[in-house]
Amino acid sequence: MNGEPPRLDGRKPLIALVGRPNVGKSTLFNRLAEKKKAIVIDEPGATRDRNYSDGSWFDRPFLLVDTGGFEPSSQETILIQMRRQTTLAMEEADIILFIMDGRQGLLPADEEIARLLHGIPKPVFYAVNKLDAPKHRDSLAEFYRLGVELFPVSAQQGLGIDELMDRVAELLPQGVPDGEEDAGIKIAVIGKPNVGKSSLVNRFLGCERAIVNPLPGTTRDPLDTPLEREGKKYLLIDTAGIRRKGRVSLTLEKYSVIQAIKAIDRAEVALLLIDGVEGMTEQDTKIAGLAVEKGKAIIIVVNKWDLVEKDNDTVGKYVKDIKDKAKFLDFAPIIFISAATGQRVVKILDLVEAVYLEYTKKVNTSELNRAIEEIVEKHPPPRVASRKQKLIYATQVGIKPPTFLFFVRDPRGIHFSYERFLINQFREAFGFKRVPIRIYFRKK
Ligand code: GDP
Ligand code: GDP
Repeated sequence: MNGEPPRLDGRKPLIALVGRPNVGKSTLFNRLAEKKKAIVIDEPGATRDRNYSDGSWFDRPFLLVDTGGFEPSSQETILIQMRRQTTLAMEEADIILFIMDGRQGLLPADEEIARLLHGIPKPVFYAVNKLDAPKHRDSLAEFYRLGVELFPVSAQQGLGIDELMDRVAELLPQGVPDGEEDAGIKIAVIGKPNVGKSSLVNRFLGCERAIVNPLPGTTRDPLDTPLEREGKKYLLIDTAGIRRKGRVSLTLEKYSVIQAIKAIDRAEVALLLIDGVEGMTEQDTKIAGLAVEKGKAIIIVVNKWDLVEKDNDTVGKYVKDIKDKAKFLDFAPIIFISAATGQRVVKILDLVEAVYLEYTKKVNTSELNRAIEEIVEKHPPPRVASRKQKLIYATQVGIKPPTFLFFVRDPRGIHFSYERFLINQFREAFGFKRVPIRIYFRKK
């Protein structure tokens, strides 16, 4: 390892895997990525095939990104792709795991990546993979030419991973500090490049009494930007990342998810910016998917509204188009703004307040069960295997997002469509209309 320990300021550290194709990055990724514990409702299919995940090593959580997974096929040479992926990791990651293939030996492309990584002020771990048996370790020798400490591993067999990750974990904080509680509602501004994120952030700063707090004695950008309006506090998350512009790698649309991943993780409300001229694109739904998957409240902010030619029904058509393209966002309110002119920018904060109220709302159990009884009476769950399903009891177990636990006779017997139905009824009955909610079924 070289470089200094990462400065995190309460962020979950981001670990990036870099290396040539076929060295075993995704194999290692799958080993380190968190396995999904529960079925989550409202999960967009778009993010299934992924190269980013939560992970943890014992009690130390991190975010994991496989940079190779971003460019599976392309006309460009592998070297160009790899350079870009490595640059991306160097800019965005807190810790880099560079994976090489011990069976193939040290190739010129590896040396090129190593040269890029050499001397960057971030920790880099050099792993030589596919050393499945002790006899393979002989091939380590040539890698010592790189002049760095090496970690022999077998991602497939799970060998050497402990040694590697124990060392990585020394740099990871235990848990995530929860010291931001009174900093206000945490807002992430997310979206693909050029959609207007930095314009919006600057607008917020310009039109509100913003308190930007440069850390005394440092020239470092503050990570987040506090904002105050009418006595209410907000914290714009990871604005340093948004304002730090002109980076080669991030001009690539597909890489913009990395910035979103980092910001979304700590946010409560995500402002998803859409380009009003382009409308909702696939990349937008991908980024939105990240926020939905993490259970964040989302506001769809259609920007550059000043550039859109309007007739009577422009808004209506827009809303329909968005709902059609991203069904999993049907709960998210939509606002049309112009960061350039400032139109309705302040209204975003009103919407944030309204959404946050729902996002943090608690319903008491007796009220909840009375309402459920009514719903179920009107529309009983379908019978499964001749046994009548009966919902026995429900309780709200969490907020952010509002989460409910239903006790039923046979959780497997609850059909997806009935779940949907319940969720919609729920939203209606309790005013959870503009936030994601989660419902888990448990056997009683
Ligand atoms: P990536 O392109 O860097 O993500 O590489 P993959 O994880 O897709 O692995 C490429 C190939 O190498 C696959 O066939 C893996 O099964 C294989 N592989 C990965 N790790 C190991 C390992 O530790 N030992 C051996 N023998 N094969 C491995
Ligand atoms: P970012 O990459 O998402 O941070 O996007 P920027 O804030 O840098 O904006 C990209 C470009 O779009 C810049 O040229 C902005 O001036 C322009 N832009 C941003 N918001 C608006 C808007 O509401 N209307 C118009 N006409 N241009 C905008």
